[in-house]
Amino acid sequence: MSLVLGVTGGIGSGKTTVCKIFSTLGVPVFYSDVEAKKAYQDPMIQMKVRAEISNEVFVNGELQPRKLADIVFNDRDKLEALNEIIHPYVAKLFAEWRLAQNAPYLIKEAAILFESGAYRQCDHTLLISCQETIRVQRVMERDGASESEVRARMSRQWSDERKRELAGFEIVNDGQRALIPQIMELHNQLKGIN
Ligand code: ATP
Repeated sequence: MSLVLGVTGGIGSGKTTVCKIFSTLGVPVFYSDVEAKKAYQDPMIQMKVRAEISNEVFVNGELQPRKLADIVFNDRDKLEALNEIIHPYVAKLFAEWRLAQNAPYLIKEAAILFESGAYRQCDHTLLISCQETIRVQRVMERDGASESEVRARMSRQWSDERKRELAGFEIVNDGQRALIPQIMELHNQLKGIN
């Protein structure tokens, strides 16, 4: 089976940007957060979320993300319950996807790779890092969000310093250091390990 590189980084660090470049090199990428969002369309998941979190998070079968965030970020038990519904679902999708790939290594992108403990199932981990001020600017521009909204999202994630302790590799995406040579170096190294 192919090795798995878990890729993570704080909001606005450029995880998706970096993964898209790896993808152009032929590396298959699994976007955990995209799959987690899709999970809410599954009727079984909807039933569990309604039962364990609240009936109000779906209106006509459509997830109300703000409502859900309001509930789970103010209630630790509900956040844990939600994770216990969503994480196994995404883990199963990932396991199936992994079996269907044929490449020297695969990427699993996840915003909370370290926070969730999912990094333990990866062979290697990569942190995309960038200082907070730049990340805030990027996300404000990308999402049209206010600084306080971005900082509130950031406050629920670990700092780069804390993630760095667990990360095997690091790519600095601060807009100063060129991204492509860092990606190529790691790509060549990972191809070689396999
Ligand atoms: P999130 O956690 O919110 O999903 P992310 O880590 O996946 O974010 P991206 O969406 O890849 O981050 O990047 C955030 C924004 O910053 C995007 O609009 C992207 O185009 C921009 N960006 C990323 N890297 C750079 C860079 N090196 N120079 C300029 N802009 C960049």
